[in-house]
Amino acid sequence: MNRQLPLAPVIPFVCAPGYPFAAQWQAALQAAMPHERVVALDTLDADARAACDFAIVANPDTRDLATLPRLKWVHSVWAGVERLVEDLQHSPLEIVRLVDPQLADTMAEAVLAWTLYLHRDMPRYARQQAQGQWLAHDYVPPQEKTVALLGLGELGMASAAKLLAAGFRVAGWSRSRKAVPGVQCHAGEDELAAMLASADILVCLLPLTPQTQGMLNATTLALLRPGASLINFARGAIVDDEALRAALDAQRLAHAVLDVFREEPLPAPQWQWQHPRVTVLPHISAPTHRGTASAIVAANVRYYRETGAMPALVDKQRRY
Ligand code: NAP
Repeated sequence: MNRQLPLAPVIPFVCAPGYPFAAQWQAALQAAMPHERVVALDTLDADARAACDFAIVANPDTRDLATLPRLKWVHSVWAGVERLVEDLQHSPLEIVRLVDPQLADTMAEAVLAWTLYLHRDMPRYARQQAQGQWLAHDYVPPQEKTVALLGLGELGMASAAKLLAAGFRVAGWSRSRKAVPGVQCHAGEDELAAMLASADILVCLLPLTPQTQGMLNATTLALLRPGASLINFARGAIVDDEALRAALDAQRLAHAVLDVFREEPLPAPQWQWQHPRVTVLPHISAPTHRGTASAIVAANVRYYRETGAMPALVDKQRRY
């Protein structure tokens, strides 16, 4: 007798219209969850949509999510979810974000790479070469330089470990107090000034929230040591661009490595492209690895199927 196996449940994959990697994501997620059926939202009829209580999302249009009437939660394949949090602020829908040790490792590698770029004065020697100038500057060892991390979450913690191993003094700032061996930990607004004053290289790894938006402004940038540098690997809107430009023009800030911008791709007329003290990167500091990310999503889906409990949720009140 030919017994038919029941069809696996359906998980809709919802992404922005025209997203170029939709098929690759769907394939990677499906491979990580052979007992589920990961399908594009637009292939589902109304009955199938009514049967879905969670979805996997990549920067979705939240109006598409509204076509899933029983939806309780969404799993983002990205770590940064500020737009989703904003759009779903007044919705009962819960959000799970990607927490992937591989992503944290990739970010920590980028933090170390661009810290070394600044530490060994590479932008300065490149400027000198362009002018045919042979001029050596004093070498300051990493033990005498402080790298200050704004954010001691998944990415900040992984970065701190790599920086410590490379010999740097490391400071960190978070909302709640942390105790990390070897790291000078600061917490809350009251301790921000002290941390900024200690920084030779300031690395931003904060989520974009109403509290962090524009927080690197004329006032806070002025608290940095003269000649300090900035690395922004978090979100463009955390930095006040005009204040940054003024600090660079005045050479109070030696250099800025920027991977994220208010508008991406960074439009051609924007000053950052041409500024001699800015390194522009096209949002490449920590790309999500589809394979490891899909395995994490699959583990969270399995947990939900087995326990009925949602995986760790984004705090919509806190906004991250
Ligand atoms: P996370 O684990 O949520 O950590 C966020 C950290 O920021 C926490 O230490 C948190 O403090 C701190 N924080 C938040 N608001 C604060 C405030 N108002 N004052 C002081 N500290 C505050 O996030 P993550 O996984 O490390 O990721 C951080 C951000 O990196 C993401 O939100 C995303 O925007 C960005 N990102 C960028 C890329 C890229 O390719 N450029 C890739 C991935 C992620 P507590 O520990 O006290 O909560």
